[in-house]
Amino acid sequence: MAWSKPHNLLDLSYVDVAEYLKTQDLVMVPIGSCEKHGAHLPLGTDSMITIGVVEPAAKKAGVLYAPLLPVGYSPHHMGLMGQGVGTLSLSAETANRILYEIGRCLIFHGFNKIVYVTHHGSNTKIIDLFLRRLRYETGAFLAFYKTPTERECNVVADIIEGPPEETPGWHAGEIETAMIMAYDSDLVDMSRAQQDRAHAPQWMGPAFSKKDGMGTVIFQGSENIFVPMEHHDYSDTATIGNPFRGNPEKGKRLFERGSDHLAAFLEEVKKIPVKVTTRDYPERVWS
Ligand SMILES: [Zn+2]
Repeated sequence: MAWSKPHNLLDLSYVDVAEYLKTQDLVMVPIGSCEKHGAHLPLGTDSMITIGVVEPAAKKAGVLYAPLLPVGYSPHHMGLMGQGVGTLSLSAETANRILYEIGRCLIFHGFNKIVYVTHHGSNTKIIDLFLRRLRYETGAFLAFYKTPTERECNVVADIIEGPPEETPGWHAGEIETAMIMAYDSDLVDMSRAQQDRAHAPQWMGPAFSKKDGMGTVIFQGSENIFVPMEHHDYSDTATIGNPFRGNPEKGKRLFERGSDHLAAFLEEVKKIPVKVTTRDYPERVWS
């Protein structure tokens, strides 16, 4: 049965949710971030792209979604104290608790499958703990979907124009600039845009290099070394890529393609058998 009502839990009554659960047990949880991007883009870039993919995917697949969590895991985007950047970041512990607790609430109500969705790559650094805890404790199906971005851009490869050396999927580059232009062009100020690339932190010396925003450095041709770095250690302008390849038409196509892919994934998830063993949530005031 096609779902003709809104898809955001905030827009539904409890009667609607119960009705949805009679035929469907899948729900999405969108997670964004509020963090420094290139000077031409808003702090909410990753939140906007996340919801801009989740909304159409929800419609295409007839799946509900929880309200967007607008703050994620962005410790490396804080900038310097007193600099006035505006980034908000949850600790790994807090983010895990919030995402776990939202999951337990959804399972309590009758959802059996939860797909968390984010455009912010660094949100994936913390997810194994809460996903496994939910899985082991309840038996529910859990997944975490990252929109096509950073090094994994296969889904949108034919839409991107920049060569791989231009790192089109990275911070404030081709993909993000195009998508925010499509989302709300008033939020983009191209007079401030700069083309830029990542580099190894100066304080590590000349033996190291870096090609994008991964948490790694390259040493003697090998990229097997993780170092906790601040974003401004390896990107002088909070831009890694070429924003001048962005345009609203391309952004529209990226939203379309990303939401098609996510909707197709949701259709597959509907078919996966799952048996929830624990639905009650008595730890909900203190755990
Ligand atoms: Zn971003």
